[in-house]
Amino acid sequence: MGLHERTLHQLIDGLDRQDIRLSEVLDDLYGAIEEQDDPIHAYLSVADRDVLDRQAEAVADRPLKGLPVAVKDLISTTDFPTTCGSRFLEGFRPIFDATAVERLRDAGATILGKTNLDEFGMGSSNENSAYGPVKNPVDPTRVPGGSSGGSAAAVAAGMAPAALGTDTGGSIRLPASFCGVVGLKPTYGLVSRYGLIAYASSLDQIGPIARNVRDVALALSVIAGPDANDATSIDNGSIDYADDLDHGIEGLNVGLVRAFVDQLDPDARSRVAEWIASFEDLGATVVDVELPHAAYALPAYYLISGAEASANLARYDGVRYGRRASDDALDAMLAESREAGFGPEVKRRIMLGTYALSAGYYDQWYGKAQKVRTLIRRDFQRAFEHADILLTPTSPVAPFKLGERTDDPLQMYLIDAFLTPVSLAGLCGISVPGGTVDGMPFGMQLVGPQLGEPTILRAAHAYEQARS
Ligand code: GLN
Repeated sequence: MGLHERTLHQLIDGLDRQDIRLSEVLDDLYGAIEEQDDPIHAYLSVADRDVLDRQAEAVADRPLKGLPVAVKDLISTTDFPTTCGSRFLEGFRPIFDATAVERLRDAGATILGKTNLDEFGMGSSNENSAYGPVKNPVDPTRVPGGSSGGSAAAVAAGMAPAALGTDTGGSIRLPASFCGVVGLKPTYGLVSRYGLIAYASSLDQIGPIARNVRDVALALSVIAGPDANDATSIDNGSIDYADDLDHGIEGLNVGLVRAFVDQLDPDARSRVAEWIASFEDLGATVVDVELPHAAYALPAYYLISGAEASANLARYDGVRYGRRASDDALDAMLAESREAGFGPEVKRRIMLGTYALSAGYYDQWYGKAQKVRTLIRRDFQRAFEHADILLTPTSPVAPFKLGERTDDPLQMYLIDAFLTPVSLAGLCGISVPGGTVDGMPFGMQLVGPQLGEPTILRAAHAYEQARS
């Protein structure tokens, strides 16, 4: 196995024991990028090798030993442009690092590059990047899932041992599922959003993507915790999320969201039956739970996220932020800059969101969506009275062909049906490889209550160990 295919933990151990050298790890990673990133297109920028060598040397005595991590290009970094996958921010260089990036660097990581994404995080297939789509490393004719598709594809293809993604309504969990890797959306507030360029602020979270659960736990331990620069950040008591992983799940109550499973094709349903059997073998009890309002999560999510996006993206006007299209009269300049700068999906979201917030329609759309959000949150509270964690497929479908769903936005939005309820309720969710459907990776989602990360990580780890 090449060093670029090892997990973060294996690399740390190897470096500790001096079995391997960091320069050999970097040789293999840069080799993999050279060989695979055309056609995968996971990266929008990659660090110069000599710069990375110098940065790695300076932090080699810290816990992460100079090992490189990839970062979604929606997260601010001073030493790379941060484009958000948009023409509007082509060449934009933030003047500070996001807190999550700063914490990775402090722990001894280096940043290998910035990964491709759906523009501003809006999309489920990674076909909405202004710089061209990402392809699924398992089958490059298929999508990697979005919007953190570059991060998931980089990890799956051995072009990074771990990566940061962001998840507003599923964008870490879906690409992790489609590319056959592990991705965690933390509880809202667990990871600081400082330096995460806003899409929908009440939903956005940064989280890790890696090759196994242990690495995700390690990365989460580094980036989680309170931050004076983000008033919504939570004090988690600086726990080490890798501590409890091996404690097993004897006696754990796992709630299966049966209504989600009923929507699946027979092949996918067989995977779910296997997951249930695995959990029972591990000593857990699987019970059915209901989330009566989850069926309304998608419309509520797309109204709320669009509304917040329409406000957050008002700053891109060619004056305060973004490329200016012309020097004509002010109104024309603003309109032309926004017309030229944003792609079609971003424009659709801004229009939808502006409409939902407009006088006369506010109560009917945005206000109602907020009420639905409360009902969904209560559904989960009730479900967690019967179960410690919930089990669902990550998505109703397996990775599909590029172009297959681009003509119909609704078909695209449906892919997030099992993900958006978790986001609206601010809970934590992890996607773990759960076998294949149509020969492609099919992820299992485990959902925990707020700050339930230790439990979903322990269950995901137990399942992963049992399968391998
Ligand atoms: N697919 C969803 C959307 O387009 C989720 C995106 C995300 O989580 N960033 O909004």
